[in-house]
Amino acid sequence: MADLGTNPGLKDRMGRPCHDLRISVTNRCQFRCRYCLPAEHVDVMRSQSASENKLSFDDITRIVEAYAELGVNKVRLTGGEPLLRKHLPQLVKSLKSIKGIDDLAMTTNGILLPQILDDLIKAGLDRVTISLDAIDDDLFAHITGTQHRAKDVLDVIDLCLASRLKQVKINTVIQKGINEHQVVPILEHFRGTAAVVRFIEFMDVGTLNQWHETQVMPSHAVLDLIAQHRPFHSKHPLKSGEVAKRYGFDDGQEEFGLISSVSQPFCGDCDRARLSSDGLVFQCLFASQGHDTKPHLDDPVALKEHINQWWQHRDDQYSVLRQKKDKHHPLPKIEMFVMGG
Ligand code: SAM
Ligand code: SF4
Ligand code: SF4
Repeated sequence: MADLGTNPGLKDRMGRPCHDLRISVTNRCQFRCRYCLPAEHVDVMRSQSASENKLSFDDITRIVEAYAELGVNKVRLTGGEPLLRKHLPQLVKSLKSIKGIDDLAMTTNGILLPQILDDLIKAGLDRVTISLDAIDDDLFAHITGTQHRAKDVLDVIDLCLASRLKQVKINTVIQKGINEHQVVPILEHFRGTAAVVRFIEFMDVGTLNQWHETQVMPSHAVLDLIAQHRPFHSKHPLKSGEVAKRYGFDDGQEEFGLISSVSQPFCGDCDRARLSSDGLVFQCLFASQGHDTKPHLDDPVALKEHINQWWQHRDDQYSVLRQKKDKHHPLPKIEMFVMGG
């Protein structure tokens, strides 16, 4: 491959660097979470997956090489459900060998993880984030639209905590009136473990989840619930661009986090790009259009130039505009299971 030189100083129009690339390796998912892929809209996933012109692992590797030269050092595999993509350890190995990529993580619903966890770790996976919105079995089944029990995912999390992974995080999306009563039980469940639970505000991503702002449980209300249970203190961010505010309990080592995309947008620090499984680059979770990498896959210089230009033109800050009640959003949104969460 040609030597493209490096440009770690790449900045968008708002001066934001590009450090973090999230890769959706498939649109498909076996869960039907009501806030992401409600069962009644599964035809949307099926129609998109049928025509899914998936990038090969070689294509993805080429794109990550270009991003790494532009300053990306963190990669996260996601989807859809990333573990539905076959032979994932091969991709992990290939991405981990790219110069500059020093953190490789995956977000997953966890169900398929036990069969493949060892191979993923051997291949170089550093960290996992597992989604868990309820610890109560009936509520878990209701939210995820599956027959699985919360216990199935809790067992997987235990397996991860006992493994050589560097970090295990739990993503918990809080929907007001649905699962805020799970906040304390979830924290209690992970008391004394190294798991980092992050409570995420329900977002208006995509078009299928009937989002309304009254369903958002603002982070300050989640903190109130936790404060009634156990005293905590805030912790300093480890680096700029960190989306979660970090907290630690006064009487223990555990850490938890809050991701307040709706009530306290963090667009000013957003250093993330997303790559869909069919090769489109989205520079914001709420972008209406992606930039197509496919025409440039055989030309590393052109690929890097395009990626460079797309980022330099980026001015997305949807969550800030949402908060200002700027309803101007001219084009349809893309579903999260397509773009990669
Ligand atoms: N299937 C995997 C999983 O669920 O972990 C990875 C993809 S999923 C789209 C990534 C993350 O996005 C999950 O933690 C999920 O809870 C979160 N998510 C999906 N829709 C959301 C929404 N409307 N608001 C906030 N978070 C959402
Ligand atoms: Fe699937 Fe993840 Fe979306 Fe749930 S949040 S439907 S597990 S992609
Ligand atoms: Fe980043 Fe877009 Fe989310 Fe703002 S709204 S934090 S720019 S992904």
